[in-house]
Amino acid sequence: MNDNNLVWHEQSVTIDDRWKSNGYKSCVLWFTGLSASGKSTVAHALDKYFHRSGIHSYVLDGDNVRHGLNKDLTLSPEDRKENIRRIGEVSKLFVDAGLLVLAAFIAPYREDREQLRPLLEKEQFVEVFVKCSISECEKRDPKGLYKKARTGEIKKFTGLSAPYEEPEHPEIILETDKHSVKECVDQILNYLAENGYVNPAVINQKSNP
Ligand code: ADP
Repeated sequence: MNDNNLVWHEQSVTIDDRWKSNGYKSCVLWFTGLSASGKSTVAHALDKYFHRSGIHSYVLDGDNVRHGLNKDLTLSPEDRKENIRRIGEVSKLFVDAGLLVLAAFIAPYREDREQLRPLLEKEQFVEVFVKCSISECEKRDPKGLYKKARTGEIKKFTGLSAPYEEPEHPEIILETDKHSVKECVDQILNYLAENGYVNPAVINQKSNP
């Protein structure tokens, strides 16, 4: 594309202005992990908690984004990369708008996830590794996908017949096969309070997802 005529227009309300008036800092919590590890469950529980606490947040969920913005993309490695790139750009806009973005995507390739960090300021990207053994994920199988992968109905299924590359330096590791949803939500809330994103007083309310 010829971008000679594109001029970046600075926002008249800066992100610092928004943080000050909101009373909390926006960021992306990027949940990555196997299918059924619990990404959506924890993200939506957090969203509910934030909503009740007057904190503006939004869940970007893998399947939902593929129904609209990314419905032209397949599950090939190139399209997965483009999927993640677009979601990264959307997340960046939402963070700029002052929201806490809860992005729940398998994003199995490390390289694809690493393209996200340079898009945002360091403190604006928080990688959350949703860690759960494959046997537990398969036992849960809420969408019946593992079953379909075992019968060959789904080819190249992440964790079984396609790779999942674990994050090397995630900011948070949730062990969802060892801890309850509530404990996982509290772990994230504590991280956000300890690192100055939200006021600890807000976090001290019970999360009760
Ligand atoms: P994903 O979004 O990673 O594909 P889902 O959130 O859709 O996974 O499904 C995870 C399943 O595991 C849900 O049925 C959920 O109730 C269950 N589960 C059990 N323990 C946990 C936990 N600690 N955190 C998240 N989910 C859990």
